[in-house]
Formats: sequence, structure tokens, C-alpha cells
Amino acid sequence: MYRGEQDEQPYVLPCVVEAEKRVIAQPPNKEYSGYGGSAAFCRLAAELALGPSNAALADGSAVSVQALSGTGALRLGCEFLSRYYSPSNVVLLSSPTWVNHPHIIARCPGLEARPYRYYEPSTRSLDYEGMIQDLEAAPEAAILVLHACGHNPTGVDVSREQWAGLLAVAQRKRFLVLWDVAYQGFVRDLEADVEGLRLFAASSLEMLVAQSFSKNMGLYGERVGCLTLVTDDAAAAKGALDLLHDAARSMYISPPIHGGSIATAILGDPELRAQWERELQAMADAMAARRHALHAALVEVGAPGCWDHIAAQRGMFSFTGLTRAQCQHLTNKYHIYLSPDGRISLGGLPVAKCKYVAEAIKDAVES
Ligand code: PMP
Repeated sequence: MYRGEQDEQPYVLPCVVEAEKRVIAQPPNKEYSGYGGSAAFCRLAAELALGPSNAALADGSAVSVQALSGTGALRLGCEFLSRYYSPSNVVLLSSPTWVNHPHIIARCPGLEARPYRYYEPSTRSLDYEGMIQDLEAAPEAAILVLHACGHNPTGVDVSREQWAGLLAVAQRKRFLVLWDVAYQGFVRDLEADVEGLRLFAASSLEMLVAQSFSKNMGLYGERVGCLTLVTDDAAAAKGALDLLHDAARSMYISPPIHGGSIATAILGDPELRAQWERELQAMADAMAARRHALHAALVEVGAPGCWDHIAAQRGMFSFTGLTRAQCQHLTNKYHIYLSPDGRISLGGLPVAKCKYVAEAIKDAVES
């Protein structure tokens, strides 16, 4: 969650306040939105991820449903795969990955999660060779989950060249890629953050795209998300859309309408969209500033060890490399709350508190 620099409260974007005013000004309508939610929202969301000139969107071979935020999109996607995808039941997850990924997969009958190497603790960076080796050794046609950007929990992303290498493996192995797009625009910018996804989308690989608007629009509690299935066959896509609707129907009937209306108002209006892009960039820049302030403070206070990995990582998280005991020390003695794996959320760390945190980390490391 991104909190403001001064008040440390969850940040509500001014473009969201304005969009919500416009939504409320419309005559009230509390009708069900239908299994797939708002078609206008789905189109705008899919264009944001895949690009407005994506061929599958133009010819109807990509189909989308509005989902209950990113988690709901992943859950619906995995439900769909568990019911209807027969080539493989193996779901390949980065090691480590977002804690909820294995939970979601465990609830989908038949699917089996399997890790692939991703983060190397000794170098505190991507283990690209290990990743490729594990993917090469994985079953044909397995489901491959990829974080589009701002990898949770490590903050370590794949480079442009590495995406190209991964695409070659995915094509050779005929993987079905499930993209988790929870931080588009929150890391670098709206385009750069989906460069890998766009590269894959330009190939003939079929894929699923699970989008969240929690972070990039600050709509956490509104549960705004989208699931898009990209195929190369419009008739197959239409059949798949019916199956996605069927899966949604048995789980929750239809998504909530309010948050999706806000996102639609922003994405569909050139002026509000431009405002959103500026406000989103300001959040991304603020998190980068927090990251560099924490790194600088650790160097300044002389915390033992090298902290350059913190400056090199990206997005909302800082994977500090602190041990579980050191994390406990920070919480018990300094009331600093972080995941036991050493992951700090920069969303909740204003620049003004970096020195305090750095001094506490120094103490934890020296204790
Ligand atoms: N994927 C990843 C990698 C995440 O970090 C998160 C949020 N922590 C989500 C998906 C889903 O978030 P939400 O359901 O709020 O959209």
C-alpha cells in the first residue's frame, strides 16, 4: 500500500476523487454487471496491458472479464485452467514468489505448483541461468507464472534481453504463460513495466493476463481487476469467454461495479488519463526516492555489509537480506514491521523515516 509522504495515510489519487465525482453524478443504477463485468472497462484494461494496437484485441482473439482485483483475476484464471486446460497441470512459480500464489493454486483442483529458480541470495540478484535451466527441465505445456514487473517479494526484475531469452524457452516448451500484472506504471512507467508482456504478446503464444488496479490507481479496497485470455483464434476465444463466465458465475456471479466505473472514467477520458499518468509517475518516483534514501542512510550510519542491492532493486519492495531474527529485532525493539523474509514495503516508508530505519537495521545486524 502506498502511503503519503507527510500524513502516512493510504494515498487517494486526485484523479480518482474526480472520477468518482463523475460516476456519482450519473443516475444511480445498481443492476448486476453481468458475469464478465463492464465491457468498456475490460477493453480499456486489456489495451493498457497489451497495447492499443494489439492484433488479438483487434480481431477478437483476445477476450477479457472484469475480475475481483488482481487476486480475483488470478483465482479465476487458475479456476479456468484447472477446469479446462488439459495439456499440463503443473504451475511454475518463481522462488520466491508472492505468498498468495501457492495458496490460490492449492484451491484449484488438480493444479500442482512447482518452483523455478529466480532469486539468488548469495548475489542478491536474478539467477537467470538457474531460471532457464529449471524452465527447460519443466514439463511441456506447463503453466508459467511471470511477474510483469516489480517482482514481489524481491524487487528484482527480468531485463529486456532476458525476456527475449525466456520467450524462446516458452515457445520451445509451449508454455501457457499467466502474467501477474499487479504493478504496471508503479515501477518505471506504464510502457516499460510491460515490456516483457508486450514481447510475448507479439509472438503467437497463448497467454492469460491478470491485472490489478490496486496499486497503480490506489483502488485497493474497491477490488478492480481484469483477466484477459489471448489466443490466436477468435472462435476459440469466444468459446473460452463463455467458460470464463461460467467459472465466474459459480464463484461470485458478477464483479462489483463501483471501482470499475472509476477506472473506466479515468482510462476512457484523455484528460483524466493524462492526470492519472502524472500522479502514477509521482508515486513511482517517490518510491524510487525512498529506496535511494534508505540506501544512503544505511551507508551513512555505517550499517555493516553492502546495501547496494537495495538501490538496484525496483518497485514497491526492498528485499533487504535481513534474517528472520533480525526482522524480529526490528519489530520488537523499534516497531518496524516487515515480512519475516526481510521484505520492506517502501510504500509505507517515508523518506523522513529512512534514517530511523537505517539505524535500527544497523543495531539489528550488530546484535
Ligand atoms: N500479484 C502480486 C504479485 C501482488 O503483490 C498482489 C498484491 N499484493 C496481487 C497480485 C493482488 O493484489 P490485489 O488483489 O489487491 O489486486
